[in-house]
Amino acid sequence: MLKADASPQDGPHATHIVRGACPTTWHPMEAGDGWLVRVRPPQGRLRAAQAAALCEAAQRFGNGLLDLTNRAALQIRGVAEANCPALRDRLIADGLAEADPDREARLNLVLTPDWHSGDDSDRLAHELRRRIGELPPLPAKIGFAIDAGPAPALTDCPADFRIERSEGDMLIARPDGRSQGLPARPETAIDTLIVLARWFVKTGGRDAGRVGRHTASLPATLARIAPLPPRSRAETLRDAPGPFAGVPFGRIEAGALAGLLERSGATALRLTPWRGLIAEGATADGLAGWIGDPADPRLHVDACAGAPACPQASVETRALALRLAPHVEGSLHVSGCGKGCARPGPADTVLTGREGHFDLARTARAGAPPERRGLAPADLLSLFGAA
Ligand code: SF4
Repeated sequence: MLKADASPQDGPHATHIVRGACPTTWHPMEAGDGWLVRVRPPQGRLRAAQAAALCEAAQRFGNGLLDLTNRAALQIRGVAEANCPALRDRLIADGLAEADPDREARLNLVLTPDWHSGDDSDRLAHELRRRIGELPPLPAKIGFAIDAGPAPALTDCPADFRIERSEGDMLIARPDGRSQGLPARPETAIDTLIVLARWFVKTGGRDAGRVGRHTASLPATLARIAPLPPRSRAETLRDAPGPFAGVPFGRIEAGALAGLLERSGATALRLTPWRGLIAEGATADGLAGWIGDPADPRLHVDACAGAPACPQASVETRALALRLAPHVEGSLHVSGCGKGCARPGPADTVLTGREGHFDLARTARAGAPPERRGLAPADLLSLFGAA
């Protein structure tokens, strides 16, 4: 199991992030509410029976809470250490985890959520799964975005190597952080991705840890092209095989997800990196209580677990964040303390808890010098017109 030594989205007392590694079913990660088991189903999709089994497993082995991550994985929370092996066996038997721990660790893939059976994204993701052993050893957190729809949809989703669409129906294999990558055809895209991975290792990329931090130039002998401009989430979801069902903060109760499966008639669920699922074949009226619009401000606000879940917090965070979200212009981060676990970067408006009240700063990280101090939740609701 992974040794916990740093803090994640929900904070050091809600989850512990391990430097240089990602939790998997083989290597759970310790968190304040138990062990955390990350599930990355093949193609980011669970058939209805697999999803129901996962809900049952989350309730039986964990505390019944799931997190949908910004890399479109599901985390089962609150697992007792003694239950981790049984949970892993169950996930492997259900086709939701790999029987080989090395494969499990390397298969860090996210697909554009609107892939269709047999299209380039579907086919290339299968091919990469099959050929993952041909890649050189890469740092533990390296991930892949298979984003070969009509235009990129995953530009804002963390990934190190990307396959995207370019002009003239060409594909491109692009290292994260570069405006251009290597041209490819559908038949050669995985070969080109392997070339890129070898270039990364050969030029010392393992020391950088992540592709976006690696500054070596791409081989001058190889042609380079740029991807097409990205699609919006709404455009991408229009082509998806079912309605979108979003949840604030990506937090899902397993019982609620089981209820969605029963009521909506969904035949499968697809995981998106956008704090929501796609319920294949579902009727929209079976998704009552879920957020259907990916642009809904409640899906874009960041807030850590806050009080009472985190002992370092003196304020409740998430309920206030949801009240304020529709009324605050730009990005909003509500943090239980100056640590800022939910959003390491700056937000347009940041509220940091301190001694039972909030400090307000603009274009800042949590804990930054505030423009106003000591505000109560009622003051903030009134200030932003949400009272
Ligand atoms: S209260 Fe502080 S330490 Fe706790 S989760 Fe929030 S930001 Fe992290």
